[in-house]
Amino acid sequence: MCSSDLEPVVECSHDYLIVGGGMAADAAAKSIREIDATADAGIVGDEAAPPYQRPPLSKALWKGEKSPGDIDLGTAASGVVVHGGRRIVALDRAAHLARDDHGNSYRYRRLLLATGATPRRLPFDAGERVIHFRTLDDYRALHRFAVKGAHVAVVGGGFIGSELAASLAGVGCKVTMLFPGPSIGAGRYPDALCHFLDDYYREHGVTVSAGVNVVDGKAVDDGVELALSDGETLRVDAVAVGIGVTPNTELAEQAGLKVDNGVVVDDRLRSSDADIWAAGDIANFRNPALDRRLRVEHEDAAVGMGKHAGRVMAGIDEPYDTLPFFYSDLFDLGYEAVGLLDSHLDVVEDWREPCREGVVYYLDGGRVRGVLLWNTWDQVDAARELIAQVGPFDASSLRGRLPHKT
Ligand code: NAP
Repeated sequence: MCSSDLEPVVECSHDYLIVGGGMAADAAAKSIREIDATADAGIVGDEAAPPYQRPPLSKALWKGEKSPGDIDLGTAASGVVVHGGRRIVALDRAAHLARDDHGNSYRYRRLLLATGATPRRLPFDAGERVIHFRTLDDYRALHRFAVKGAHVAVVGGGFIGSELAASLAGVGCKVTMLFPGPSIGAGRYPDALCHFLDDYYREHGVTVSAGVNVVDGKAVDDGVELALSDGETLRVDAVAVGIGVTPNTELAEQAGLKVDNGVVVDDRLRSSDADIWAAGDIANFRNPALDRRLRVEHEDAAVGMGKHAGRVMAGIDEPYDTLPFFYSDLFDLGYEAVGLLDSHLDVVEDWREPCREGVVYYLDGGRVRGVLLWNTWDQVDAARELIAQVGPFDASSLRGRLPHKT
Protein backbone atom coordinates (compact mmCIF):
# COMPACT_ATOMS: atom_id res chain seq x y z
CA MET A 1 0.00 0.00 0.00
CA CYS A 2 1.16 3.59 -0.52
CA SER A 3 -0.40 7.00 -0.66
CA SER A 4 -1.11 8.78 -3.93
CA ASP A 5 1.19 11.75 -3.42
CA LEU A 6 4.42 10.48 -1.97
CA GLU A 7 7.45 12.36 -3.24
CA PRO A 8 10.22 11.96 -4.04
CA VAL A 9 10.54 8.61 -5.77
CA VAL A 10 8.88 5.80 -3.87
CA GLU A 11 8.13 2.16 -4.18
CA CYS A 12 4.48 1.29 -3.75
CA SER A 13 2.80 -2.04 -3.57
CA HIS A 14 -0.77 -2.92 -4.54
CA ASP A 15 -2.38 -6.31 -4.57
CA TYR A 16 -4.32 -5.11 -7.62
CA LEU A 17 -2.68 -2.51 -9.85
CA ILE A 18 -4.74 -0.89 -12.59
CA VAL A 19 -2.85 0.92 -15.33
CA GLY A 20 -4.94 3.67 -16.92
CA GLY A 21 -7.37 6.07 -15.28
CA GLY A 22 -10.50 5.92 -17.43
CA MET A 23 -13.92 4.33 -17.13
CA ALA A 24 -12.64 0.76 -17.47
CA ALA A 25 -10.19 1.37 -14.63
CA ASP A 26 -12.89 2.83 -12.39
CA ALA A 27 -15.27 -0.08 -13.07
CA ALA A 28 -12.55 -2.64 -12.39
CA ALA A 29 -11.45 -1.02 -9.14
CA LYS A 30 -15.03 -0.79 -7.86
CA SER A 31 -15.84 -4.40 -8.72
CA ILE A 32 -12.68 -5.61 -6.98
CA ARG A 33 -13.69 -3.69 -3.86
CA GLU A 34 -17.27 -4.98 -4.11
CA ILE A 35 -16.01 -8.53 -3.96
CA ASP A 36 -13.31 -7.88 -1.39
CA ALA A 37 -14.05 -4.78 0.69
CA THR A 38 -10.50 -4.75 2.06
CA ALA A 39 -8.70 -5.29 -1.24
CA ASP A 40 -5.62 -3.12 -1.77
CA ALA A 41 -6.18 -1.67 -5.24
CA GLY A 42 -4.40 1.22 -6.93
CA ILE A 43 -4.96 3.08 -10.20
CA VAL A 44 -2.18 4.86 -12.05
CA GLY A 45 -3.51 7.23 -14.72
CA ASP A 46 -1.83 9.96 -16.71
CA GLU A 47 -4.67 12.49 -16.52
CA ALA A 48 -4.60 14.77 -13.50
CA ALA A 49 -8.37 14.36 -13.07
CA PRO A 50 -9.59 11.21 -11.32
CA PRO A 51 -11.70 8.84 -13.47
CA TYR A 52 -14.76 10.51 -15.02
CA GLN A 53 -17.58 9.71 -17.45
CA ARG A 54 -16.31 10.34 -20.97
CA PRO A 55 -19.57 10.41 -23.04
CA PRO A 56 -20.80 13.75 -21.63
CA LEU A 57 -17.70 15.49 -23.03
CA SER A 58 -19.24 15.56 -26.50
CA LYS A 59 -22.92 15.65 -25.49
CA ALA A 60 -24.43 16.43 -22.06
CA LEU A 61 -21.84 19.02 -20.94
CA TRP A 62 -22.68 21.17 -23.97
CA LYS A 63 -26.41 20.84 -23.45
CA GLY A 64 -26.04 22.02 -19.87
CA GLU A 65 -27.48 18.71 -18.63
CA LYS A 66 -24.28 18.09 -16.66
CA SER A 67 -21.33 20.12 -15.42
CA PRO A 68 -17.72 18.91 -15.20
CA GLY A 69 -18.22 18.37 -11.45
CA ASP A 70 -21.08 15.94 -12.16
CA ILE A 71 -19.05 13.51 -14.23
CA ASP A 72 -16.49 12.51 -11.57
CA LEU A 73 -16.95 8.79 -10.97
CA GLY A 74 -16.02 9.03 -7.29
CA THR A 75 -13.44 6.28 -7.60
CA ALA A 76 -11.45 7.10 -4.47
CA ALA A 77 -14.59 6.83 -2.31
CA SER A 78 -14.59 3.10 -3.02
CA GLY A 79 -11.31 2.84 -1.12
CA VAL A 80 -9.04 2.67 -4.15
CA VAL A 81 -5.83 4.73 -4.28
CA VAL A 82 -5.74 6.91 -7.41
CA HIS A 83 -2.24 7.96 -8.51
CA GLY A 84 -3.15 10.74 -10.97
CA GLY A 85 -0.85 12.54 -13.39
CA ARG A 86 1.43 9.53 -13.73
CA ARG A 87 2.03 7.26 -16.64
CA ILE A 88 3.36 3.73 -16.36
CA VAL A 89 6.25 3.53 -18.81
CA ALA A 90 7.77 0.13 -18.07
CA LEU A 91 6.55 -3.24 -16.92
CA ASP A 92 8.75 -6.02 -15.55
CA ARG A 93 6.49 -9.05 -15.62
CA ALA A 94 9.00 -11.40 -13.99
CA ALA A 95 9.43 -9.06 -11.02
CA HIS A 96 5.73 -8.04 -10.98
CA LEU A 97 6.88 -4.41 -11.02
CA ALA A 98 5.67 -1.36 -12.94
CA ARG A 99 7.50 1.97 -13.17
CA ASP A 100 6.00 5.40 -13.89
CA ASP A 101 7.32 8.48 -15.65
CA HIS A 102 8.22 10.07 -12.27
CA GLY A 103 10.50 7.15 -11.43
CA ASN A 104 8.11 5.63 -8.87
CA SER A 105 7.68 1.87 -8.91
CA TYR A 106 4.65 -0.23 -8.08
CA ARG A 107 4.73 -3.87 -7.06
CA TYR A 108 1.62 -5.85 -7.90
CA ARG A 109 0.15 -9.32 -7.56
CA ARG A 110 -2.41 -8.91 -10.33
CA LEU A 111 -2.46 -6.16 -12.94
CA LEU A 112 -5.07 -4.74 -15.30
CA LEU A 113 -4.10 -2.86 -18.42
CA ALA A 114 -6.81 -0.29 -19.21
CA THR A 115 -4.65 2.21 -21.02
CA GLY A 116 -7.29 3.40 -23.50
CA ALA A 117 -6.43 5.14 -26.73
CA THR A 118 -4.74 8.26 -28.08
CA PRO A 119 -6.38 10.52 -30.68
CA ARG A 120 -4.84 10.52 -34.14
CA ARG A 121 -3.42 13.95 -34.90
CA LEU A 122 -3.54 16.24 -37.88
CA PRO A 123 -0.12 16.44 -39.55
CA PHE A 124 0.71 19.98 -38.37
CA ASP A 125 0.92 22.03 -35.20
CA ALA A 126 -1.21 25.17 -35.25
CA GLY A 127 -1.27 25.89 -31.54
CA GLU A 128 -3.76 25.70 -28.70
CA ARG A 129 -6.84 26.37 -30.81
CA VAL A 130 -6.56 22.98 -32.53
CA ILE A 131 -7.95 20.45 -30.07
CA HIS A 132 -7.64 16.73 -30.69
CA PHE A 133 -10.70 15.91 -28.63
CA ARG A 134 -10.61 13.15 -26.04
CA THR A 135 -10.29 14.32 -22.42
CA LEU A 136 -11.87 16.64 -19.87
CA ASP A 137 -8.96 19.06 -20.46
CA ASP A 138 -9.81 18.97 -24.18
CA TYR A 139 -13.45 19.79 -23.36
CA ARG A 140 -12.31 22.74 -21.22
CA ALA A 141 -9.96 23.97 -23.96
CA LEU A 142 -12.65 23.79 -26.63
CA HIS A 143 -15.27 25.30 -24.35
CA ARG A 144 -13.05 28.35 -23.88
CA PHE A 145 -13.04 29.09 -27.62
CA ALA A 146 -16.49 27.76 -28.58
CA VAL A 147 -18.45 30.81 -27.50
CA LYS A 148 -21.69 31.86 -29.17
CA GLY A 149 -20.98 33.11 -32.70
CA ALA A 150 -17.48 31.60 -32.88
CA HIS A 151 -16.66 29.66 -36.03
CA VAL A 152 -15.44 26.14 -35.19
CA ALA A 153 -14.18 23.62 -37.74
CA VAL A 154 -14.96 20.02 -36.78
CA VAL A 155 -12.58 17.63 -38.53
CA GLY A 156 -13.88 14.05 -38.85
CA GLY A 157 -17.34 12.67 -39.49
CA GLY A 158 -17.31 9.78 -37.00
CA PHE A 159 -18.58 9.67 -33.41
CA ILE A 160 -16.69 12.69 -32.08
CA GLY A 161 -17.27 14.75 -35.21
CA SER A 162 -21.01 14.14 -35.52
CA GLU A 163 -21.70 14.55 -31.79
CA LEU A 164 -19.52 17.64 -31.34
CA ALA A 165 -20.84 19.34 -34.48
CA ALA A 166 -24.39 19.00 -33.14
CA SER A 167 -23.35 20.15 -29.65
CA LEU A 168 -21.41 23.16 -30.91
CA ALA A 169 -24.27 24.22 -33.18
CA GLY A 170 -26.52 23.86 -30.15
CA VAL A 171 -24.49 26.44 -28.20
CA GLY A 172 -24.65 28.92 -31.07
CA CYS A 173 -21.33 28.30 -32.81
CA LYS A 174 -20.99 28.46 -36.56
CA VAL A 175 -19.85 24.95 -37.42
CA THR A 176 -18.08 23.60 -40.49
CA MET A 177 -17.62 19.81 -40.65
CA LEU A 178 -14.75 18.55 -42.80
CA PHE A 179 -14.12 14.88 -43.54
CA PRO A 180 -12.71 12.81 -46.39
CA GLY A 181 -15.65 10.41 -46.80
CA PRO A 182 -18.75 10.98 -48.94
CA SER A 183 -21.16 11.70 -46.06
CA ILE A 184 -21.67 11.63 -42.32
CA GLY A 185 -21.68 8.00 -41.13
CA ALA A 186 -20.54 6.63 -44.50
CA GLY A 187 -19.69 2.94 -44.25
CA ARG A 188 -21.69 2.65 -41.05
CA TYR A 189 -25.25 3.61 -41.98
CA PRO A 190 -27.25 2.83 -45.14
CA ASP A 191 -26.72 5.39 -47.93
CA ALA A 192 -30.18 6.97 -47.62
CA LEU A 193 -29.66 7.53 -43.90
CA CYS A 194 -26.22 9.09 -44.55
CA HIS A 195 -27.70 11.52 -47.08
CA PHE A 196 -30.56 12.30 -44.73
CA LEU A 197 -28.02 13.09 -41.99
CA ASP A 198 -25.99 15.41 -44.24
CA ASP A 199 -29.20 17.33 -45.03
CA TYR A 200 -30.32 17.20 -41.40
CA TYR A 201 -27.05 18.76 -40.21
CA ARG A 202 -27.30 21.43 -42.92
CA GLU A 203 -30.88 22.21 -41.85
CA HIS A 204 -29.48 22.75 -38.35
CA GLY A 205 -27.01 25.31 -39.67
CA VAL A 206 -23.90 23.11 -39.99
CA THR A 207 -21.80 23.46 -43.13
CA VAL A 208 -21.08 19.88 -44.18
CA SER A 209 -17.96 19.64 -46.37
CA ALA A 210 -17.73 15.99 -47.40
CA GLY A 211 -14.80 14.67 -49.42
CA VAL A 212 -12.48 17.35 -48.02
CA ASN A 213 -9.21 16.77 -46.19
CA VAL A 214 -7.38 19.26 -44.02
CA VAL A 215 -3.85 19.29 -45.43
CA ASP A 216 -2.21 22.08 -43.44
CA GLY A 217 -2.90 24.70 -40.83
CA LYS A 218 -1.31 27.60 -39.01
CA ALA A 219 -2.13 29.83 -36.07
CA VAL A 220 -3.23 33.32 -37.07
CA ASP A 221 -4.40 36.24 -34.91
CA ASP A 222 -7.05 34.79 -32.55
CA GLY A 223 -7.69 31.89 -34.86
CA VAL A 224 -6.49 29.13 -37.15
CA GLU A 225 -6.18 29.09 -40.91
CA LEU A 226 -6.70 25.69 -42.50
CA ALA A 227 -5.54 24.65 -45.96
CA LEU A 228 -8.00 22.21 -47.51
CA SER A 229 -7.54 19.50 -50.14
CA ASP A 230 -9.91 21.31 -52.53
CA GLY A 231 -7.53 24.29 -52.65
CA GLU A 232 -9.63 26.47 -50.35
CA THR A 233 -8.51 28.02 -47.08
CA LEU A 234 -10.76 28.25 -44.06
CA ARG A 235 -10.24 30.72 -41.23
CA VAL A 236 -11.86 29.65 -37.96
CA ASP A 237 -11.70 30.50 -34.28
CA ALA A 238 -10.98 26.91 -33.23
CA VAL A 239 -10.66 23.40 -34.62
CA ALA A 240 -12.06 20.26 -32.94
CA VAL A 241 -10.51 17.09 -34.30
CA GLY A 242 -12.01 13.57 -34.12
CA ILE A 243 -10.23 11.48 -36.74
CA GLY A 244 -10.06 8.23 -34.84
CA VAL A 245 -7.80 6.84 -32.15
CA THR A 246 -4.85 4.49 -31.74
CA PRO A 247 -5.08 1.96 -28.89
CA ASN A 248 -2.33 2.43 -26.29
CA THR A 249 -0.67 -0.97 -26.52
CA GLU A 250 2.99 0.15 -26.28
CA LEU A 251 3.33 -0.99 -22.68
CA ALA A 252 1.90 -4.43 -23.47
CA GLU A 253 4.18 -4.73 -26.48
CA GLN A 254 7.22 -3.63 -24.50
CA ALA A 255 6.35 -6.24 -21.85
CA GLY A 256 6.15 -8.97 -24.48
CA LEU A 257 2.42 -9.66 -24.19
CA LYS A 258 0.57 -10.99 -27.20
CA VAL A 259 -0.72 -7.97 -29.14
CA ASP A 260 -2.66 -8.17 -32.40
CA ASN A 261 -5.04 -5.27 -33.02
CA GLY A 262 -5.04 -4.75 -29.26
CA VAL A 263 -3.96 -6.87 -26.32
CA VAL A 264 -5.18 -10.39 -27.05
CA VAL A 265 -7.22 -11.70 -24.12
CA ASP A 266 -9.03 -14.96 -23.41
CA ASP A 267 -12.66 -15.32 -22.36
CA ARG A 268 -11.69 -14.25 -18.81
CA LEU A 269 -10.10 -11.09 -20.27
CA ARG A 270 -6.72 -12.46 -19.24
CA SER A 271 -3.73 -11.64 -21.43
CA SER A 272 -0.95 -14.01 -22.45
CA ASP A 273 0.45 -13.42 -18.91
CA ALA A 274 -1.63 -15.24 -16.24
CA ASP A 275 -1.35 -12.26 -13.84
CA ILE A 276 -2.27 -9.53 -16.34
CA TRP A 277 -5.74 -8.68 -17.68
CA ALA A 278 -6.82 -6.08 -20.26
CA ALA A 279 -10.09 -4.18 -20.71
CA GLY A 280 -11.64 -1.39 -22.75
CA ASP A 281 -10.29 0.20 -25.93
CA ILE A 282 -7.10 -1.88 -25.94
CA ALA A 283 -8.58 -5.35 -25.39
CA ASN A 284 -8.99 -7.74 -28.30
CA PHE A 285 -11.55 -10.31 -27.10
CA ARG A 286 -13.58 -13.07 -28.70
CA ASN A 287 -17.34 -12.64 -28.79
CA PRO A 288 -19.19 -15.98 -28.96
CA ALA A 289 -22.38 -14.66 -30.62
CA LEU A 290 -20.44 -13.17 -33.53
CA ASP A 291 -17.86 -15.98 -33.32
CA ARG A 292 -15.03 -13.55 -33.96
CA ARG A 293 -12.57 -11.33 -32.19
CA LEU A 294 -13.43 -7.70 -31.56
CA ARG A 295 -11.85 -4.56 -30.19
CA VAL A 296 -14.54 -2.09 -29.19
CA GLU A 297 -13.99 1.63 -28.46
CA HIS A 298 -17.23 2.50 -26.65
CA GLU A 299 -18.40 3.20 -23.11
CA ASP A 300 -20.30 -0.06 -22.58
CA ALA A 301 -17.24 -2.09 -23.55
CA ALA A 302 -15.01 -0.07 -21.22
CA VAL A 303 -17.35 -0.29 -18.24
CA GLY A 304 -18.52 -3.87 -18.83
CA MET A 305 -15.07 -5.28 -19.49
CA GLY A 306 -13.53 -3.29 -16.65
CA LYS A 307 -16.13 -4.62 -14.25
CA HIS A 308 -15.73 -8.16 -15.52
CA ALA A 309 -11.94 -8.10 -15.40
CA GLY A 310 -12.10 -6.80 -11.83
CA ARG A 311 -14.41 -9.65 -10.82
CA VAL A 312 -12.18 -12.30 -12.36
CA MET A 313 -9.06 -10.73 -10.84
CA ALA A 314 -10.77 -10.90 -7.45
CA GLY A 315 -11.56 -14.59 -7.88
CA ILE A 316 -14.95 -14.87 -9.64
CA ASP A 317 -14.23 -17.25 -12.49
CA GLU A 318 -16.74 -16.55 -15.28
CA PRO A 319 -16.49 -15.86 -19.01
CA TYR A 320 -17.03 -12.47 -20.62
CA ASP A 321 -19.59 -13.19 -23.30
CA THR A 322 -21.28 -9.79 -23.62
CA LEU A 323 -21.69 -8.09 -26.97
CA PRO A 324 -21.20 -4.42 -26.02
CA PHE A 325 -23.74 -1.88 -27.24
CA PHE A 326 -23.12 1.72 -28.17
CA TYR A 327 -25.22 4.81 -28.65
CA SER A 328 -25.08 8.33 -30.00
CA ASP A 329 -27.04 11.57 -30.03
CA LEU A 330 -27.24 13.70 -33.18
CA PHE A 331 -29.29 16.83 -32.45
CA ASP A 332 -32.69 15.40 -31.48
CA LEU A 333 -32.03 12.04 -33.14
CA GLY A 334 -30.50 9.19 -31.22
CA TYR A 335 -29.81 5.50 -31.43
CA GLU A 336 -28.50 2.40 -29.73
CA ALA A 337 -26.67 -0.31 -31.62
CA VAL A 338 -25.02 -3.70 -31.19
CA GLY A 339 -22.63 -5.73 -33.30
CA LEU A 340 -21.15 -4.82 -36.64
CA LEU A 341 -22.48 -1.69 -38.35
CA ASP A 342 -20.87 -2.19 -41.71
CA SER A 343 -22.82 -1.05 -44.75
CA HIS A 344 -20.84 -3.51 -46.90
CA LEU A 345 -22.89 -6.29 -45.30
CA ASP A 346 -26.42 -7.09 -46.53
CA VAL A 347 -28.54 -4.28 -45.13
CA VAL A 348 -32.23 -4.63 -44.31
CA GLU A 349 -34.00 -1.39 -43.41
CA ASP A 350 -37.23 -1.53 -41.45
CA TRP A 351 -38.49 2.04 -41.03
CA ARG A 352 -41.56 3.09 -39.17
CA GLU A 353 -40.82 6.61 -40.38
CA PRO A 354 -37.98 6.82 -42.93
CA CYS A 355 -34.67 7.91 -41.34
CA ARG A 356 -36.47 9.05 -38.18
CA GLU A 357 -37.52 5.87 -36.47
CA GLY A 358 -36.80 2.26 -37.29
CA VAL A 359 -34.37 -0.65 -37.22
CA VAL A 360 -31.52 -1.47 -39.60
CA TYR A 361 -30.19 -5.03 -39.71
CA TYR A 362 -26.76 -5.96 -41.05
CA LEU A 363 -26.55 -9.56 -42.33
CA ASP A 364 -23.80 -11.85 -43.50
CA GLY A 365 -24.78 -15.17 -45.06
CA GLY A 366 -28.27 -14.98 -43.53
CA ARG A 367 -27.00 -14.29 -39.99
CA VAL A 368 -27.65 -10.99 -38.28
CA ARG A 369 -24.27 -9.44 -37.42
CA GLY A 370 -25.38 -5.97 -36.36
CA VAL A 371 -28.52 -4.04 -35.41
CA LEU A 372 -29.00 -0.26 -35.48
CA LEU A 373 -31.93 0.83 -33.31
CA TRP A 374 -32.66 4.30 -34.70
CA ASN A 375 -34.82 6.28 -32.27
CA THR A 376 -35.98 2.85 -31.14
CA TRP A 377 -35.43 2.06 -27.47
CA ASP A 378 -35.33 -0.88 -25.04
CA GLN A 379 -34.44 -3.39 -27.73
CA VAL A 380 -30.71 -3.87 -27.13
CA ASP A 381 -31.09 -7.26 -25.43
CA ALA A 382 -33.52 -8.46 -28.12
CA ALA A 383 -31.00 -7.38 -30.76
CA ARG A 384 -28.25 -9.29 -28.95
CA GLU A 385 -30.45 -12.42 -28.91
CA LEU A 386 -31.09 -12.07 -32.62
CA ILE A 387 -27.36 -11.83 -33.32
CA ALA A 388 -26.80 -15.02 -31.32
CA GLN A 389 -29.37 -16.96 -33.38
CA VAL A 390 -28.13 -18.98 -36.36
CA GLY A 391 -31.00 -17.99 -38.65
CA PRO A 392 -31.07 -17.89 -41.59
CA PHE A 393 -32.79 -14.51 -41.76
CA ASP A 394 -33.81 -12.31 -44.63
CA ALA A 395 -35.77 -9.11 -45.15
CA SER A 396 -39.16 -10.78 -44.82
CA SER A 397 -38.33 -12.62 -41.60
CA LEU A 398 -36.75 -9.52 -40.04
CA ARG A 399 -39.26 -6.80 -40.85
CA GLY A 400 -41.33 -6.06 -37.75
CA ARG A 401 -39.26 -8.49 -35.70
CA LEU A 402 -38.03 -5.94 -33.17
CA PRO A 403 -41.14 -3.99 -32.24
CA HIS A 404 -40.64 -0.28 -32.33
CA LYS A 405 -40.75 1.13 -28.84
CA THR A 406 -40.39 4.85 -28.57
P1 NAP B 1 -14.25 7.48 -35.42
O1 NAP B 1 -15.66 7.31 -34.99
O2 NAP B 1 -13.46 6.29 -35.80
O3 NAP B 1 -14.30 8.48 -36.65
C1 NAP B 1 -13.14 8.95 -37.27
C2 NAP B 1 -13.57 9.80 -38.44
O4 NAP B 1 -12.47 10.56 -38.90
C3 NAP B 1 -14.08 9.02 -39.63
O5 NAP B 1 -15.20 9.70 -40.15
C4 NAP B 1 -12.93 9.09 -40.61
O6 NAP B 1 -13.32 9.04 -41.94
C5 NAP B 1 -12.40 10.46 -40.29
N1 NAP B 1 -11.02 10.66 -40.68
C6 NAP B 1 -9.99 9.80 -40.66
N2 NAP B 1 -8.85 10.43 -41.01
C7 NAP B 1 -9.18 11.71 -41.25
C8 NAP B 1 -8.47 12.86 -41.64
N3 NAP B 1 -7.15 12.82 -41.87
N4 NAP B 1 -9.15 14.04 -41.79
C9 NAP B 1 -10.47 14.09 -41.55
N5 NAP B 1 -11.20 13.03 -41.17
C10 NAP B 1 -10.56 11.87 -41.03
O7 NAP B 1 -13.38 8.22 -34.30
P2 NAP B 1 -13.67 9.53 -33.47
O8 NAP B 1 -14.93 10.15 -33.92
O9 NAP B 1 -12.40 10.31 -33.50
O10 NAP B 1 -13.89 8.98 -32.01
C11 NAP B 1 -12.75 8.56 -31.27
C12 NAP B 1 -13.11 7.35 -30.42
O11 NAP B 1 -14.05 7.72 -29.45
C13 NAP B 1 -13.71 6.24 -31.23
O12 NAP B 1 -13.17 5.06 -30.74
C14 NAP B 1 -15.17 6.31 -30.93
O13 NAP B 1 -15.81 5.05 -30.97
C15 NAP B 1 -15.16 6.87 -29.51
N6 NAP B 1 -16.38 7.64 -29.26
C16 NAP B 1 -17.54 6.96 -29.12
C17 NAP B 1 -18.70 7.66 -28.93
C18 NAP B 1 -19.97 6.91 -28.79
O14 NAP B 1 -19.94 5.69 -28.58
N7 NAP B 1 -21.11 7.57 -28.88
C19 NAP B 1 -18.69 9.05 -28.87
C20 NAP B 1 -17.49 9.71 -29.01
C21 NAP B 1 -16.33 8.99 -29.21
P3 NAP B 1 -13.31 7.64 -42.72
O15 NAP B 1 -14.29 6.78 -42.03
O16 NAP B 1 -13.71 8.06 -44.10
O17 NAP B 1 -11.89 7.14 -42.62
